[in-house]
Amino acid sequence: MDTVWLKDIGKEDISIVGGKGANLGEMINNGLPVPSGFAVTAQAFRNFLVDNKIEEELFDALKVNVDDDSELREAEKKAKQIILEAKMSEELVKEIKRKYKDLCEGEKIFVAVRSSATAEDLPTASFAGQQETFLNIKGEDNLLDAVKKCWASLYGARAIFYRVKGGFEHSKVNIAVIVQKMVDSEKAGVIFTSHPTTGEPLAIVESAWGLGEAVVSGTVSPDNFVVDRKNLKILDEKINEKAKMFVKDPKTGDTKIFKVPEEKRNISSLAEEEVIELVRYGNKIEDLYKSPQDVEWGITGGKIYILQSRAITTINKGLKDQTTKKKEAEWREEPILRGTGASPGVVSGRVKIVKKLDGMNEVKEGDIMVTKMTSPDMVPAMRRAAGIVTNEGGLTCHAAIVSRELGAPCIVGTKEATKVLRDGMVITMDGKKGLVYEGEMEKKEVEEEENAAPHLYKPITATEVKVNISMPEVAERAAKTGADGVGLLRIEHLVLRLPMHPQKYIEDGREDEYVKELVKGIKKVADAFYPKSVWVRTIDAPTDEFRSMPGGEDEPIEANPMLGWRGIRRDLTIKEHFKLEMEAFKRLFKLGCDNVGIMLPLIQHPNEIKMVKEMMKEVDLDIEKMEYGIMVETPASALIIDDIIEEGVDFVSFGTNDLTQYTLAVDRNNENVSEIFDEMHPAVLKLMKYVIERCNEAGVKTSICGQAGSDPKMVEKLVEYGISSVSSNIDAVSAIRETVARKEMQMMLGYMRNNKKNR
Ligand code: PEP
Ligand code: MG
Repeated sequence: MDTVWLKDIGKEDISIVGGKGANLGEMINNGLPVPSGFAVTAQAFRNFLVDNKIEEELFDALKVNVDDDSELREAEKKAKQIILEAKMSEELVKEIKRKYKDLCEGEKIFVAVRSSATAEDLPTASFAGQQETFLNIKGEDNLLDAVKKCWASLYGARAIFYRVKGGFEHSKVNIAVIVQKMVDSEKAGVIFTSHPTTGEPLAIVESAWGLGEAVVSGTVSPDNFVVDRKNLKILDEKINEKAKMFVKDPKTGDTKIFKVPEEKRNISSLAEEEVIELVRYGNKIEDLYKSPQDVEWGITGGKIYILQSRAITTINKGLKDQTTKKKEAEWREEPILRGTGASPGVVSGRVKIVKKLDGMNEVKEGDIMVTKMTSPDMVPAMRRAAGIVTNEGGLTCHAAIVSRELGAPCIVGTKEATKVLRDGMVITMDGKKGLVYEGEMEKKEVEEEENAAPHLYKPITATEVKVNISMPEVAERAAKTGADGVGLLRIEHLVLRLPMHPQKYIEDGREDEYVKELVKGIKKVADAFYPKSVWVRTIDAPTDEFRSMPGGEDEPIEANPMLGWRGIRRDLTIKEHFKLEMEAFKRLFKLGCDNVGIMLPLIQHPNEIKMVKEMMKEVDLDIEKMEYGIMVETPASALIIDDIIEEGVDFVSFGTNDLTQYTLAVDRNNENVSEIFDEMHPAVLKLMKYVIERCNEAGVKTSICGQAGSDPKMVEKLVEYGISSVSSNIDAVSAIRETVARKEMQMMLGYMRNNKKNR
């Protein structure tokens, strides 16, 4: 049997058609829409060698010292020449032509011609990536030529080298060739059947216009959909601007890059039903292979095609192909870089240094992203990264906040990560201790088991323990901590990820779309926590972050954005923006999200609260229906808290990141002064104690939502002062709940002992 249709083969046929061919056949047999095609079998290749009597000459040519580059290249040249000059049998030529004709069903079509190698005595051995593939081949002669080139590629220098090093005899390794219809995708992308770094049952679909190369090569930021693979619900979607597309030239078959028509750039490349259908296929493929898969797909004429599937190797395993794993004792000894541990977890991966924004497309699943400092545009790359290391920043910088929510280990403020680390280097990072080691560590499983230790009970605390959220897609995970609500939902992270600046929405008359985005993001969190309260903070981003958005070019350039046009002072000067936020709150109430409260950032004077209330009245937002509060982030607001209470607030929450920087005059993001950035500084504690006392007297709730709310020492102090709730990062909720419970018990015990003494 020299050729065989893919539909007639299955996973047991590896020795006949190689691993790739057997996989494709198995998928077709399981009802997956794989483009049709056929295989030129390994036996056909064997016959070719025998018929031409070239075996001896060929294998003799390969007897070289593979560590000598020039000998190896010479062997490649000779062996390839022997194959290319030999003749294919008439019979085989006829068979290939016949099958190609059947595949064409009339007009000549483009096919992909791929190598699929296999070893006689070890059929499951993988030779993936060592032989060649030829795309967009049209016409019988070109096809025959490509088949021969695939055969010859079995004797490429790389393949020869790996076989010798792997102990495979050249004469026992065969090659089959897969010939498959090319799909001219109108849209294409990938499906990760489970989360590519955590392995959670979340499918991720990425999609863009045109051929899949745009997504796979990272040339375009694709639309991104996160889907619960069990109940097939879309949990999150991000529609990116897709300015370019890859299209095949119908005559030459060459791939060309075109501009995407204006009206298609910012709309979703997939309908909801298509996303779900793709995830259904993804589920089927994962079930088939019994491991998470990275699947390439394409859609043309409304039909989905599954083009390729490979196992995802990044989940919880580090790098599979690294042979130089270090034992824990070794790698623990010698960190090559130190910084501030900003998000816990130990992970190994390849370094990808991102210097400019366009470089972030090169960050691949499982890489460790290394950069000066992250920005909101980098979030898609941060999602793909297994870990993040930055030169700048402290515990409250963008990289730290986003990584914690993504559950990715992060080290900030290393000062010189982009200098010390090099692209492609394999490192291990400990996001808790802030240490980077060279090489891959072996300790992963143990570490994960430790982290996964179940908490046997959840203590009930009088002081509520809430959680902070910046990205709505983590709402479900955050709710699973059992937190008593959301003490801070930072909506600027949601806004900064939109395709354009809020002002641009207004100028283009697309306000409604903007409001819908706000509603969609906030609702996801409100629903996940319902009926527990969710305090939504109005937009608080500095001008430098807004400027990086498309349409944000007109943002003023400020010498010190942290002291500049941010927080409530921005919303009070561009009222159209604020009104759109208020419109979102009105819609949320209509949608039944009555657990949503409003929190105003960076208040420094009671007048600001008054002005906001007036604006709310103007837009008919009934403040009585909801909890209404402010962040205490400036010493001014703490010192005149009585006047603020007078204005009528239900709660105040300490933004200790800012309160500390403004009290101590220490830039929160400047690693040169990070040593003296101390939320437990007596001045900061004094301000908080005073505010809690005044608020308790007035019946106003108090909380903390700065980073220090995840620090047990700070939380103990605040419980002692009488705070009503604390709000921590997702990963800290359970530890903080224990801290609160223990502190409350100690306080009760102290009270009882004192009472005994007094008796
Ligand atoms: C804070 O300042 O503590 C806070 C929670 O707000 P942000 O970190 O977003 O400025
Ligand atoms: Mg703040």
